[in-house]
Amino acid sequence: MENNSCIFCDIANGVLPSEKLYEDASVMAFLDINPIADGHTLVVPKKHIVSFHELDSNLACTLTSLTSKVAEALLSELNCDGYNVLCNNGSAAGQVVSHLHFHVIPRFLGDGLLDKWQTYEYSEQRRSEIFDKISKRLS
Ligand code: 5GP
Ligand code: ZN
Repeated sequence: MENNSCIFCDIANGVLPSEKLYEDASVMAFLDINPIADGHTLVVPKKHIVSFHELDSNLACTLTSLTSKVAEALLSELNCDGYNVLCNNGSAAGQVVSHLHFHVIPRFLGDGLLDKWQTYEYSEQRRSEIFDKISKRLS
């Protein structure tokens, strides 16, 4: 259930302090210690799960519901123009803390955060191979 060397497990158990905005038996939300915007919040399951795809559907539902409430609170209390919900999975994707979390980041027009993705085109053949593999896996 918990991982002894995990800071978010320690936060869940109250071993490490945090500015908890909300908690119940299975999920919590607290301010990011190193924010990229005022109100940058982390929404986290209390159970030690590393990646998004490991969530069972009940916990996924509870976690996304809290994420939505946090987003609503940021919109109404900080008057931000929008927000990002980000979930980094694996070090290749920028995950530093190996305990699943959603970042909810308030955004203001022109704030310049998380600027443009670099896009590119790949071949029709590669695209079609990828389409076949993923759609088969999902069916
Ligand atoms: P990741 O790159 O894993 O998606 O993001 C981890 C986030 O956790 C970072 O934004 C970092 O600032 C935040 N963080 C790391 N350690 C702590 C901590 O002890 N307390 C809080 N509140 N946030 C933390
Ligand atoms: Zn953990």
